[in-house]
Amino acid sequence: MRKNIVAGNWKMNLDYEQGLSLFSEIVNMVKDEVRGGQEVVVCSPFIHLASLSKLGASAPHVSIGAQNISQEPSGAFTGEISATQVKSTGASYVILGHSERRAYFGETDELLAKKVDAALAHDLFPIFCIGETKEERESGAFYDVIKRQLTKALFHLDAAAFGKIVLAYEPVWAIGTGLTATPEQAQEVHAFIRQTLAEQYGQEVADNCSILYGGSANPSNAQSLFSQPDIDGGLIGGASLKSRDFLQIINVFN
Ligand code: PGA
Repeated sequence: MRKNIVAGNWKMNLDYEQGLSLFSEIVNMVKDEVRGGQEVVVCSPFIHLASLSKLGASAPHVSIGAQNISQEPSGAFTGEISATQVKSTGASYVILGHSERRAYFGETDELLAKKVDAALAHDLFPIFCIGETKEERESGAFYDVIKRQLTKALFHLDAAAFGKIVLAYEPVWAIGTGLTATPEQAQEVHAFIRQTLAEQYGQEVADNCSILYGGSANPSNAQSLFSQPDIDGGLIGGASLKSRDFLQIINVFN
């Protein structure tokens, strides 16, 4: 059966020492607290990955992830970081398809399909983000947008690959805005995502895929979001930078 996951996305925040200190707090707090079998993932900037992996070795429920990888395996790509390099730090996840990468760095569905392949080829689990903009929600086109994002970036994969993919529904209008999707709005889209997976790969693949919600999730709304039948946890931005808030969100599953 699918796992409940609470993943933090630190984005481009925290210097080296600040990252280590926040992570140590998280590990200490989480150690005795994770009772519901939920997995905690911290997706940090690249500079922290190797150190966090060492610090996290004592916390079996806590995994580390990156926020991007190159689609290329190695070579003359100045400034880029490959899947193998990320994997060699001890990280096991990578966020791909985040709306900030799509909007500010021009990442297309086609490019993302290649990044997903690169991640899977090197045993990194993608946390693959999909979601509509405000205009797409208001025009009612959001189901088409979500279906396109899934189809173009993921549906070239075989069913077995879905055992390694976590999906995150992140409505762009809810990210960092304080405007959370209501539990009903989020559930509706999560159910649609699962149904789209079922149509493509069958019910078992769909039922086993963890689908996280992201977009201004916080300690006050996490409970009502995570109690929806198709919401299996969250991808948490702002609230993952405060250890107490992050812990409260993790504890929803205890
Ligand atoms: P937020 O970010 O929780 O700050 O809205 C979520 C994300 O972008 O993953």
